[in-house]
Amino acid sequence: MTSSLFIQGQGDDLLVAAQNVLDSLIPYEREIQTNDDTWMLARIQPYCTLDIKIDGVVLTFTDITSRIKTQADLCIYAIAFESQEGIFITDASGVILKVNQAFTKITGYSAEEAIGQTPRLLKSGSQDATFYAALWESLISTGVWHGEIYNQCKNGEVFPHLLTITAVKGDNGVPFHYVASLVDITQQKEASEQIEQLAFYDPLTHLPNRRLLKDRLHQALASSARKKQQGALLFIDLDNFKTLNDTLGHDIGDLLLQQVAQRLLSSVREEDTVGRLGGDEFVVMLEDLSENPEEAAVHAEIAGKNILVTLNKPYLLAGRDYRCTSSIGATLFYDHTMTEDDLLKHVDIAMYQAKHLGRNTLCFFDQAMHSVLTERAALEANLRLALEKNQFRLYYQMQTTHGNQIVGAEMLIRWQHPEHGLILPIDFILLAEETGLILPIGQWELEMACAQLKTWEKHPQTQQLQLAVNVSARQLHQADFVGQIKTILKKYAIEPNRLKLELTEGIVLNDITGTIAKMQALKSIGVRLSLDDFGTGFSSLSYLTQLPLDQLKIDQSFVRNINVKHSDALIVQTIIGMASNLGLEVIAEGVETEVQRAFLEKHGCCLYQGYLFSMPVPLEAFEQLLR
Ligand code: C2E
Ligand code: MG
Ligand code: MG
Repeated sequence: MTSSLFIQGQGDDLLVAAQNVLDSLIPYEREIQTNDDTWMLARIQPYCTLDIKIDGVVLTFTDITSRIKTQADLCIYAIAFESQEGIFITDASGVILKVNQAFTKITGYSAEEAIGQTPRLLKSGSQDATFYAALWESLISTGVWHGEIYNQCKNGEVFPHLLTITAVKGDNGVPFHYVASLVDITQQKEASEQIEQLAFYDPLTHLPNRRLLKDRLHQALASSARKKQQGALLFIDLDNFKTLNDTLGHDIGDLLLQQVAQRLLSSVREEDTVGRLGGDEFVVMLEDLSENPEEAAVHAEIAGKNILVTLNKPYLLAGRDYRCTSSIGATLFYDHTMTEDDLLKHVDIAMYQAKHLGRNTLCFFDQAMHSVLTERAALEANLRLALEKNQFRLYYQMQTTHGNQIVGAEMLIRWQHPEHGLILPIDFILLAEETGLILPIGQWELEMACAQLKTWEKHPQTQQLQLAVNVSARQLHQADFVGQIKTILKKYAIEPNRLKLELTEGIVLNDITGTIAKMQALKSIGVRLSLDDFGTGFSSLSYLTQLPLDQLKIDQSFVRNINVKHSDALIVQTIIGMASNLGLEVIAEGVETEVQRAFLEKHGCCLYQGYLFSMPVPLEAFEQLLR
């Protein structure tokens, strides 16, 4: 028994097998992978002589590499066919030949039910003829089609599927099979719809949110130009919504917002857009109003007034009756002459104008008003930089006695604007107060005043001078205002009674007790307190007696009229008498004439400030006057 055993490492096994074949006479077969990646079938059979005697074994090798590979491929195909994707294969005429298990799972149709049918089995009616025409067109020209399709499953329900169809073509290029795969994308679709809902809709009212609104507005602008039609934007803000929220709670507030959303939707045409910007702010976009702006404005006004009426009707909020008015700002739009943001700004301004006019009203955007506001915004931006850029100047206006002795000065601020020149406080102090900028400005002024007092302290001729500094209500109401004053006084180590704080009657408006306590604290440090513009506020005499004041400053409006209006002269006299009764010093501001001064002196006011003595001037000029 011989054989050339060239298959490395298999020799011993085959020898044993050959011996077994000899003993048992049962042929032996074995697939062997050779080291060069080919497969051989080794076959050992008994060798029989002509006289039928067993005379050994025959060992043959057959190359079976391609068969083995085909088997492996088929195995892969079979696994792939039973994937998560539903697969069906049709013949050239579309008759289903084979489906996998996932197909059954997705569509509900078993292999028996599907085979022999055509894909019309799944037709939902959701796609029209043009859809199928495009599908076939793509299949014929490119051999594939891929897209979303709504299929009706066996239970009658319609689901979105991602479908890929591939034509299997013969050598002649003619398809003989179509292989189609289906993926159920219901969940993805739901998720993406949910994401879209979150991204573009307000969760409370389900109305488009600011983002979607801006997008729609953008489209509306383009379409207005195309159709040559004016559109209008209405900005609706509920009056006193905050009060409702604060008193009855947010849940009730939410109920109102939901009902308002419903009413808005029902009071406009179907093609109009209603959205919620946030809070109690809603927007209505009306399109295709008219070619003519005046006519469009009339339509917008009618729609706006209709909304006012609708929103005014009583609401029922968790069993409570509630009534609420609203304010509407409106503007027309046409073409991309303005951006969406500009338009939203315009309606916002107009809405504020409506609020200003007493609420429950509609107001169109007005360019003149817009200019004022734009200017103010620019001023505010500049004002923020003014302190940093050292653009504020302090002027001094002397305060004198009837004996012409200078007792000190009032410090008055000016803004040296690089373009607009010297700006008077009347044009920026209010804005500084509203924006809170008065806090750093005021702090800076107090520092400057104390530094100046320190300088004056060093010279006998200026040692006695007092400096009056105007303090806004907002400054005084800071929690640590007293602490700030203490720190500054300590820093410059000055005599506190040289510093006089001028407060106005407005400071007591909100919190009388708190203000009095604060003033007392200031007073106990030794700082002087003067009540500025006295007589112009709504002072009640009862609290006046409680304020720890040192001085009353008669407002210049009364001083000016001393010789003009008898009643004003009388007021001046009364204030002087009152100050004297309360043991307070009294000073008159705005003294311009000798007649006024004489009147004041005659009635007992011996301190004056006004152009008669000096205009407010820069420090150097003031020091010149001292000499
Ligand atoms: P005020 O404190 O009552 O200041 C008096 C105002 O009257 C000053 O105007 C002054 O220039 C002006 N004035 C003085 N004498 C006469 C006169 O004889 N005739 C007329 N017609 N006017 C006279 P100003 O400087 O424009 O200040 C206006 C207001 O701005 C001040 O009224 C004060 O309320 C506020 N203000 C000025 N400076 C400051 C400041 O530094 N801080 C704060 N918070 N407010 C300031
Ligand atoms: Mg003043
Ligand atoms: Mg004043």
